[in-house]
Amino acid sequence: RTVYLNGEYLPEAEAKVSIFDRGFVMADGVYEVTSVLGGKLLDFPGHLKRLARSLSELQMGNPLSDDEWLAIHRKLVELNAIDEGIIYLQVTRGNAGDRDFAFPAEDTPPTVVLFTQSKPGLAANPQAKTGLRVISVPDLRWSRRDIKTVQLLYPSLAKMEAKHRGVDDAWLVEDGFVTEGTSNNTYIVKDGKIITRQLSQDILHGITRASLLRYAAEAQMQIEERPFTIEEAQAADEAFFTSASAFVLPVVEIDGAKVGNGSAGPVATRLRELYLEESLKSAI
Ligand code: PLP
Repeated sequence: RTVYLNGEYLPEAEAKVSIFDRGFVMADGVYEVTSVLGGKLLDFPGHLKRLARSLSELQMGNPLSDDEWLAIHRKLVELNAIDEGIIYLQVTRGNAGDRDFAFPAEDTPPTVVLFTQSKPGLAANPQAKTGLRVISVPDLRWSRRDIKTVQLLYPSLAKMEAKHRGVDDAWLVEDGFVTEGTSNNTYIVKDGKIITRQLSQDILHGITRASLLRYAAEAQMQIEERPFTIEEAQAADEAFFTSASAFVLPVVEIDGAKVGNGSAGPVATRLRELYLEESLKSAI
């Protein structure tokens, strides 16, 4: 695999980063994941916009222009012959020399890393038909979940808890309400209405979420942005989640209780089709 590191395209084994990098010792960095279908980037402007916002919230400069980011993404797709898959992008505050809580000098260059992961069959994921099972766990993350930082230890622990309990993922709960999934935004459907938590610092502002809600509104579907509980989700007609790498996937069981009739519902199925169709139209 060929990867990108600070201006160079390198074989992955040659891409090396300092042990003093702030990303390594402090989780001081941000990332984006963009999906690739048919060799094209989905929702790319949205991902670049959120990247810029995450960087700015952490008082980091954006090291590259939008055109430069696009060129690197395209080059990696080409060099690695990616038809279906994802591109991971990470910017950290760079090599600080000595470990120090205070930021390094302003002129310290950030570390920029991008790599691809080929995922043949991403669009034809059989889980879109079978659905996924989730458990709920307390949301113990920090309070700025709207910033897409590489600080992913708690979501990783929650995912492992789900695995140990024999299910697919965990939904995070705070003050009695679902915030989001370990790496996705969460939704329920009741009487045809799509219900999802409103944007705030409590959740990541999903790019897939934004596009999907726009497509759903254009298709005259009803949407309500508000928090919901696990009990309400268990009693809903359908549940599902969205992320750049999963698109839209149904959830058929929550904490051992079947949602609806326990299989992928019509709304989630339609929304997945709608998302794939519409986002491919604007893929670049
Ligand atoms: N919420 C969290 C915590 C995430 O990590 C992600 C994606 O990684 C999402 C939501 C979905 O965001 P997007 O649709 O931009 O991938």
